[in-house]
Amino acid sequence: MQIANNTVVSIHYTLKDDAGVVIDSSEGAEPLVYLHGAQNIIPGLEKELEGKTTGDTLQVTIEAADAYGEVNENLIQTVPSNLFQGVDKLEVGMQFQAETPDGTQVITIAAVNGDDITIDGNHPLAGERLHFNVEVADIREATAEELEHGHVHSGEGCH
Ligand code: ZN
Repeated sequence: MQIANNTVVSIHYTLKDDAGVVIDSSEGAEPLVYLHGAQNIIPGLEKELEGKTTGDTLQVTIEAADAYGEVNENLIQTVPSNLFQGVDKLEVGMQFQAETPDGTQVITIAAVNGDDITIDGNHPLAGERLHFNVEVADIREATAEELEHGHVHSGEGCH
C-alpha cells in the first residue's frame, strides 16, 4: 500500500533544526499517526511522503515556507503586563494559549521591559528550515468517520 490521500500513516521521525540539534523525535515512543491529505502535518513533509510505502526511509529538508511558515512580524506585538493577571512573574520564553478567531494560538513572551511585554504569536518553529529523518511504519485506509472528522481515531475513537 502506498501513501495517498485518505490513508492513515504511522511514521517514526527525528526532527532537527538547521544546526543539527534534535528538536523532536518519536524514538522510544509511539509513532506519529496522521491522516494523509488532511493537513495534519506540515505541507512539505506531507508532500515528501506521498507515494511512499511501509518500510521506506527518507531524509528530507523542508524550507520554512513549507514547514511552519515564515516569521510574521504582525504577530509580534507589545502589550501591557496587566493582561497577564494571575501570573506571578513574566519571563521570556513563557508560553500561553490565546483564543483567536482562527482558533487556539500559542503565544510566547519574547521580551519583558517593565510593564511592556513583547509577545510573539508565531509558531516556535516559524522561519526555521527543518530536517527530518522518517521511517514509514504503517499505512492503512482511513475509516469513513476519520475522513469526515479530518483526523485519526485511535482504538477509543474520537479525541
Ligand atoms: Zn474525530
